[in-house]
Amino acid sequence: MAAPRQNTQIPGWYRFLIGDLECTIVWDGYIHHAYDGLFPNGDPAELRRLQDAYLLPHDHIPMDLNPAVVNSGDTLFVIDAGLGRKRPLFGDTMGRMPENLAAAGIDPADVDIVLMTHLHPDHSFGLIHPDGSAVFPNAELCVSRTDWEEWTDEANLGRNDFRGPWTEGTLEAVAPYRERLKLIAPGDSPYAGVTAISGAGHSSGQCAFIFESRGEKVMFTGDVAHHHIFDPHHPEWFFHNEYDSDPPQGAAAKEAVFGRAVDERIRFHGYHFPYPGLGLMTRVEDGTYRYAPDALTPRLGPGRFGTG
Ligand SMILES: [Zn+2]
Repeated sequence: MAAPRQNTQIPGWYRFLIGDLECTIVWDGYIHHAYDGLFPNGDPAELRRLQDAYLLPHDHIPMDLNPAVVNSGDTLFVIDAGLGRKRPLFGDTMGRMPENLAAAGIDPADVDIVLMTHLHPDHSFGLIHPDGSAVFPNAELCVSRTDWEEWTDEANLGRNDFRGPWTEGTLEAVAPYRERLKLIAPGDSPYAGVTAISGAGHSSGQCAFIFESRGEKVMFTGDVAHHHIFDPHHPEWFFHNEYDSDPPQGAAAKEAVFGRAVDERIRFHGYHFPYPGLGLMTRVEDGTYRYAPDALTPRLGPGRFGTG
């Protein structure tokens, strides 16, 4: 019997436990990013070797957008807000976070804190709906002071490069949150169980956030790394000479954050890694890294595979 194709997919959310923390990844969509300008100090032959070894497409890098929600029991955190739909970029493939929050049973009005790794469009523009109202109407916005100063600087508006429209969109996205703003620095622990560490370079003030509960840790690393194969193999590769505020500093931050994830056995979350972007970072003999994604499981339990 010919059955109709469904042409649908599961909703984009995935839940896991870290100690007493209930964490949910809430997919916002994806970018098919061109290779132009990426990894400017990378060896093209090595890039090609890795593409072929891992059967990666040659014409684009698929990058997911994986915002996260952490429920500590008395505080509901969001980490990054996706691109939203106020200012679509790269085609209409993003802005799905609100519908996936609903599918995951999370009411945006219940969110207490929105932690921003940095204020680039694919992380910040989703703070508002297309009508300009706040997606998280009761939340405090927490971002590093350096990033805030870089990406809400109205002097950028007159620029003829990407910094003009990116700043314009970020100013619009943060507008409803200005009365509830917390500016922090790397090393701060702005909330119980949460520590900000520096991921600076991709943006001048980028932070990663480490959550800890009952001896278990997870780190939400934003854009410290963009790719699950190239970056662990080559932590010394810059991401982009133009889009990175300081490419060498960004590569150094990537190496430091990977190292810390390995040395402290911290679950690693890469915002642009393949959905849901969760796994373990390991170090190999030559000192570089490999990323082992978690196997997804319908079981919600403690431990890496939900099995306790
Ligand atoms: Zn990004």
